[in-house]
Amino acid sequence: MDQRFDVTERFADGAQYIAGRLRQGGSEATHPVVDPATGERVFSYRLAGPADVDAAVAAAGAALPEWAGATPGERSDALHRFAAVLTERAEDLARAESSQCGKPIKLSTEFDVPGTIDNTAFFAGAARQLEGKAAAEYSGDHTSYIRREPIGVVGSVAPWNYPLQMAAWKVLPAIAAGNTIVLKPAELTPLTSLMFAQAATEAGIPDGVVNVVSGTGPEAGEHLVSHPGVAMTSFTGSTAVGKRVAALATATVKRVHLELGGKAPFVVFDDADLEAAAHGAVAGALINTGQDCTAATRAYVQRPLYDAFIAAVADLMETVRLGDPFDPHTDLGPLVSHAQRDRVAGFVERARGYATVVTGGAAPGGDLARGAYYRPTLITGAPQDSEIVQSEIFGPVLAVLPFDGDDEGIALANDTPYGLAASAWSRDVYRTGRASREIRAGCVWINDHIPIISEMPHGGVRASGFGKDMSAYSFEEYTQVKHVMLDNTAVVRKDWHRTVFGDRQT
Ligand code: NAD
Repeated sequence: MDQRFDVTERFADGAQYIAGRLRQGGSEATHPVVDPATGERVFSYRLAGPADVDAAVAAAGAALPEWAGATPGERSDALHRFAAVLTERAEDLARAESSQCGKPIKLSTEFDVPGTIDNTAFFAGAARQLEGKAAAEYSGDHTSYIRREPIGVVGSVAPWNYPLQMAAWKVLPAIAAGNTIVLKPAELTPLTSLMFAQAATEAGIPDGVVNVVSGTGPEAGEHLVSHPGVAMTSFTGSTAVGKRVAALATATVKRVHLELGGKAPFVVFDDADLEAAAHGAVAGALINTGQDCTAATRAYVQRPLYDAFIAAVADLMETVRLGDPFDPHTDLGPLVSHAQRDRVAGFVERARGYATVVTGGAAPGGDLARGAYYRPTLITGAPQDSEIVQSEIFGPVLAVLPFDGDDEGIALANDTPYGLAASAWSRDVYRTGRASREIRAGCVWINDHIPIISEMPHGGVRASGFGKDMSAYSFEEYTQVKHVMLDNTAVVRKDWHRTVFGDRQT
């Protein structure tokens, strides 16, 4: 327990971060942060009410002129300092993330925190690289150029699966481009978003540029995304809530950016390296206890490899060590909450009626019974149109289905409403090339599944939303393009005026 994060003292002043300081939420209601590995309450905080959202939006609005007016070099310097402060805080951030989410400490330490620092360093550089079309005399008589301007105050809403990284993905491109932001983290997991905002202040980013309101979706979230002082809404979360957010944001004509759910296919052709594919499927399905929007959730395996793939995946799943998230040897932590564990268990119980649970399908006993744990679960024999194959489960569950021809494998991969990520496994460059072209997803991995990198975009198509996080492409989301057209002729009576004046001398 001693390694766990002591939050009570750290956030004694409250869990709202507005204009560079912590304060208590204005709502009468409180919300707990619970360690899902033990079920124990780590912290309890007063939720944000509408007045807190109003104050945060006002702080972001007040900070906007100075921050938007800073040079790219000044914003870049601030982001470099931000990356340095986060690096100093790395251990603290990892412990806080593991305490509130139940993530194995090796995942927080080796993935969440370094990924966030690298993102910050990337946007420190990218802040100086905002680009538009070359200025040119497209009309002959004018010089046209593009200004890439910040949009204004951004209101962002984030999920609980990677709270620190989601905060980074929302905040960094927004502020690198000169916007200011109000972020609403998921109510289960506000701690690392608050620490991220505190680190921004410590790095010298002006008060009000990064604000965090910790509140519920229906109250603080809806108020934020429909707020008239907010110019853009960026949302990461489920497709169902994303639709509601989009509808609310539309009423005030906001720019909308939606990163929604996923149901990533994992397509194994019959010439694939079986061992590599089996390892990739288990790691890709179980990362973050399967609570990853790009997790491998449906493996389609060409018939000659099907039985061997199932046997290999089942064996590998048995080797994965569930345990205390703070034990460095733990591979798989609990789900984020007991409610999420019960939700996952519900999907598996319903699947027993039409499919086979090859391994897993239960919570572990013994010391882990009080936590929100669920064993790695492999399911076969489920029809393509069944719930377990079509719906996002967000837990350590992989369904495996067979296919015959390549056409069928690709068609099955495309047969859900989602389109966030996918992978194809083959030694044949023509097969993988075809899969990368024809699978409808924002990312297609070839002979791997999961890796992300700051320089490359993350974002979906279809019911997985639109817009890109990370990479220079995210500036498309967080900037607006202005065309400036400058007359070069100094002619009073321009040629095109004929359309109004005709040939009359005026
Ligand atoms: P969720 O949609 O339930 O909640 C996400 C956020 O929205 C939370 O902060 C929540 O408080 C808020 N919210 C809920 N109702 C709201 C409302 N009516 N108005 C405004 N805000 C509201 O999702 P979750 O359970 O926290 O996270 C899991 C989901 O997130 C999965 O569907 C997963 O695929 C998705 N996700 C997507 C990506 C991506 O990049 N596409 C990344 C991570 C997670």
